[in-house]
Amino acid sequence: MPHKTPSNPRRQFLRQSAAATGLLLAPGLIGCNSSGPASAGEDPEPAPRRPDQGRKLGIAILGLGGYASGQIAPALQLTEHCELRGLITGSPEKLPEWQRKYNIKKENSYTYDTMDEIADNAEIDVIYVITPTATHRDFSVRAANAGKHVWCEKPMAMTPEECQEMIDACNRNGVKLAIGYRMMHEPNTRKLIELTKEKAYGPLTGAHAYAGYAGSPPPADYWRGQRDMGGGALYDMGVYTVNGLAYGTQLQPVAVVKAEQRRQDRPNGVDLTTTYTLRYPDGMTAEGKTSVVEDYNELHIDAENGWYEMDPMQPYTGVKGSTSDGKVLGPPVPNQQSIQMDDDALAILNGTELIAPGTLAKHDIRVIRAIIESAETGREVKI
Ligand code: NDP
Repeated sequence: MPHKTPSNPRRQFLRQSAAATGLLLAPGLIGCNSSGPASAGEDPEPAPRRPDQGRKLGIAILGLGGYASGQIAPALQLTEHCELRGLITGSPEKLPEWQRKYNIKKENSYTYDTMDEIADNAEIDVIYVITPTATHRDFSVRAANAGKHVWCEKPMAMTPEECQEMIDACNRNGVKLAIGYRMMHEPNTRKLIELTKEKAYGPLTGAHAYAGYAGSPPPADYWRGQRDMGGGALYDMGVYTVNGLAYGTQLQPVAVVKAEQRRQDRPNGVDLTTTYTLRYPDGMTAEGKTSVVEDYNELHIDAENGWYEMDPMQPYTGVKGSTSDGKVLGPPVPNQQSIQMDDDALAILNGTELIAPGTLAKHDIRVIRAIIESAETGREVKI
């Protein structure tokens, strides 16, 4: 099968480096089917449309902002199974530069007004939605209705109901829905997940996840500073802690015991920091902390016979895993996003399970809403 023969030398190097450290695990190894504890799974995926195997998937980026230009478009150049072939934007003035830089045909370039015409474009297999969180539902549903597989950035959407609409639209159209949880594809993080699955240090006794950066408070005229657009620490960074605790423990919490949010003092102001405590079915608890004004970054798992952690847990480069008995989980990979996109492309080409499907990410949004409710009411909230 063509995908087994790496054609991109840089990509081959990345794979070989990971394989040399014993950290290259098969896609789909992490629980993301209906039986896995960290998976959502209540919505079985129908048999998806499968493009001809052996060809690269044509990717159209929707939303030409910071993450698309700084990370995803460059990372697509390093992939083995994807090709950046299309652009969708609300700012047509951005198109000439992107078309020149990435050799994109004019007929593969769309605006939000014309994007539904992409249904007739056989060169595009996937639409990657990279826009403010509050817009993910609408753009993803439109992408699915155009018959294209959907990759959507984190956090998946504002509410579990919006997530479900995205899942339903993809199911109806026979396309896959992957969320851009790059850490779930990252080889060192996958090694940590293996330690939990194998109970390598015995049964778990606790966990914490912290993700924050010491920036300036987001301005009111930018979507990251607007609560109803999905700005704020909990959605933007906290989703890494919620998702990290899910894959790190392979458990889903049953309640938010308590939560606190420090919010901007203005209408529609976002949370600058959020702290929370989750409880699991066996009574174990985990602590989460997230911020857009304070720096911290780690995922730590305690077990009866030791601990293991990622510190830091989610920068683009330099994630590092270690254990209480002195093991280092492996060197960081040079480019997380290219691994993520190739994994997702292979799942489409081979008709296999996604590592981070919408059904899994919907669980995290349910937890986020429960954290907000607990912070607002001062009470424990069942999930
Ligand atoms: P930016 O603000 O830099 O870009 C967002 C882009 O979305 C805009 O440039 C615009 O592109 C498009 N857009 C569509 N509708 C709107 C709207 N109503 N208001 C503003 N912009 C709109 O954000 P980022 O690129 O940093 O983030 C985009 C998404 O990617 C978010 O969901 C974020 O959480 C996620 N992200 C994920 C990261 C990861 O590591 N996985 C890292 C960073 C972000 P255009 O002008 O082309 O229409």
